[in-house]
Amino acid sequence: MADIVLTGDRPTGQLHLGHYVGSLANRIRMQDSYQQFVMIADVQALTDNYDNPQKVRENVFEVALDYLAVGLDPEKTTIFIQSMIPEIAELTVFYLNLVTLARVQRNPTVKTEMHQKGLENRIPVGFLVYPVSQAADITIFRARYVPVGEDQLPMIEQSNELVRSFNRIYGEGIMREAEAIVPKIARLPGTDGSAKMSKSMGNTIYLGESSDVLYKKVMGMYTDPNHVRVSDPGKVEGNPVFAYLDAFDPDTNEVERLKEQYQRGGLGDVVLKKYLFQVLDTFLAPIRERRAMLAQDMAYVKNVVEQGTGKARSVASQTMRNVRAAMHLDYFG
Ligand code: ATP
Ligand code: MG
Repeated sequence: MADIVLTGDRPTGQLHLGHYVGSLANRIRMQDSYQQFVMIADVQALTDNYDNPQKVRENVFEVALDYLAVGLDPEKTTIFIQSMIPEIAELTVFYLNLVTLARVQRNPTVKTEMHQKGLENRIPVGFLVYPVSQAADITIFRARYVPVGEDQLPMIEQSNELVRSFNRIYGEGIMREAEAIVPKIARLPGTDGSAKMSKSMGNTIYLGESSDVLYKKVMGMYTDPNHVRVSDPGKVEGNPVFAYLDAFDPDTNEVERLKEQYQRGGLGDVVLKKYLFQVLDTFLAPIRERRAMLAQDMAYVKNVVEQGTGKARSVASQTMRNVRAAMHLDYFG
């Protein structure tokens, strides 16, 4: 049987270019040769949105729309909702015994996010331990590969530690370790120039973005603050306009030419941004169209997710039968 791939996204908003670069592009590629599960992580979204369940619910189907619009094929990829698989929560509880508080507090991604979200002094335990729940997501499907952005590497590491502990204590081979598949461009910066485009930071370009809004967002992008006059030499490193061109312009020779001209001086931000707008608009047009078409038929979208959830649940419950047997919790046979 083909190896299993698992990833997911938090339904905290629509998906954006960062998701595409960091993970969706690999998922679209991998769905042809692997058995792929893609999870809409509503339980994880609640860890820092527990007071806004309405937002999480609405975005579950926004994310599903994005998946289908961008080219995840329900014939090849099983799309499912995390909270509808209670076995994941069950496995999380068993895993929580295998990790120390100090270890979860050391997770660099959690630390960064805690800081970004201003949660330092009032961190919900559920948020702190979401990497443990993520380990349950990955391992309950016996995933071999996890196509994710760079920010997720510490999660895979922590998941594999849990697998090793679990197997040492309850039986070798029950759980399997996973490997991250990180793309060449592992982290797309935000339109504001900060290191990561992220829903919660308001520096995103959505996959379903209209041309108008796209134009405004691109024209308002951060560039090199010292590039004032057209004739001034400008910086390419740390300039998100070039990061986006590297990620989305198929004409790499033209991108190299623009970089040289920008560094030399003589290429204005407005001209450069208009070029980027064209590139992104060309990339997003078919996704946007497909998304609008699918949005007319939400019954279909819902059905795809319902079918996927049923399939995912049967895989997860099979793993939990093995887990319970290994842990001597199979009381009634
Ligand atoms: P939130 O702000 O709610 O955490 P997010 O925008 O960070 O949302 P997630 O749902 O946490 O998105 O991330 C889902 C997947 O997309 C992960 O694999 C993550 O690595 C990837 N990803 C998200 N943003 C980026 C980015 N800017 N560059 C590369 N990959 C990204
Ligand atoms: Mg995130």
